[in-house]
Amino acid sequence: MSTIEDPIQRAYQTFQDELIEAGLLIPMGVPGLYARSGLFESVVEQFEKFVTAMAAERKSEVIWFPPVFNRRHYLCTDHIETFPNLMGSVHSFTGKDREHLELIRKRKSEEDWTRDLNATEVMLLPAACYPLYPTATGVLPEEGRTVDLRSFVFRHEPSIDPARLQSFRMHEYVRLGTPEQALEHREYWLQRAEEILRAIGLDVTPVLANDPFFGRGARMMAATQQEQNLKFEMVVPVATAEKPTAVASCNYHLNHFGHSFGIRTADGNEAHSACVGFGLERVALALFRAHGFNPASWPASVKKVLAL
Ligand code: ATP
Ligand code: ZN
Repeated sequence: MSTIEDPIQRAYQTFQDELIEAGLLIPMGVPGLYARSGLFESVVEQFEKFVTAMAAERKSEVIWFPPVFNRRHYLCTDHIETFPNLMGSVHSFTGKDREHLELIRKRKSEEDWTRDLNATEVMLLPAACYPLYPTATGVLPEEGRTVDLRSFVFRHEPSIDPARLQSFRMHEYVRLGTPEQALEHREYWLQRAEEILRAIGLDVTPVLANDPFFGRGARMMAATQQEQNLKFEMVVPVATAEKPTAVASCNYHLNHFGHSFGIRTADGNEAHSACVGFGLERVALALFRAHGFNPASWPASVKKVLAL
């Protein structure tokens, strides 16, 4: 019996227990970090194929970035101002023999050895689209660019909610171009994402949303983001219907990244951008929640769409 009083937290714990019991998630001793079974991954794989097929009517370049990127590029964004609590910075040991002995001594005596590490040149990706912008500096072609990206990302938000992970995959379609091109992309994906999620039997609702900004200006920034209609989320009941989970987001960034990274349109103006991002683990979890833990007994229409 769970002793958690808050019904939402209890629902998270129950769903987590069920997923682990079924062998779909294998806990790794840290909240929000799991290995996933072959069955879980086969669902992700089939969903990926379906999204790719549904996106094919709009040609996009495919780019695979590693899950880390240049620290200097990280600092060209305002992530450290807006989400410092979520960042992941990679550190390593750069000392010589003497410092190494000290490191080992501290580790053996259970002192804090991590302060003897130094920052490397890389940060973990906070979102799949971050490393794209620094590679796009300069002038865009007349028709703009549409890029298909997927990557593991990191967010330091430990939670018992199995849908709130610290390390997870995003599949994004990013548009760089004029304000009209960026907005058109966002409008297209608002509809298309809903269509995709409905086709796999998810009870999805698009909602106006805001990012979880950090610190003093947070409330203002969230209100401005909402007023400007910049972010929409596709929410689905996962652990509990009381607090549905965002399985995909459609964002319009205005000239935010164009300005920070010197990306220009053919007419010489700062580029605007928009992206849709599917949270792949969340989609799989929503499917297991909606249709049960055994894909063989999922509704025929869903099995057909996902070729399961
Ligand atoms: P939330 O509002 O739930 O914190 P978000 O709005 O911050 O999510 P985005 O930054 O828009 O999320 O990321 C794109 C997608 O990545 C989300 O729609 C979601 O599906 C997925 N995602 C975001 N955070 C997590 C997480 N901690 N664990 C798993 N998936 C996530
Ligand atoms: Zn959000």
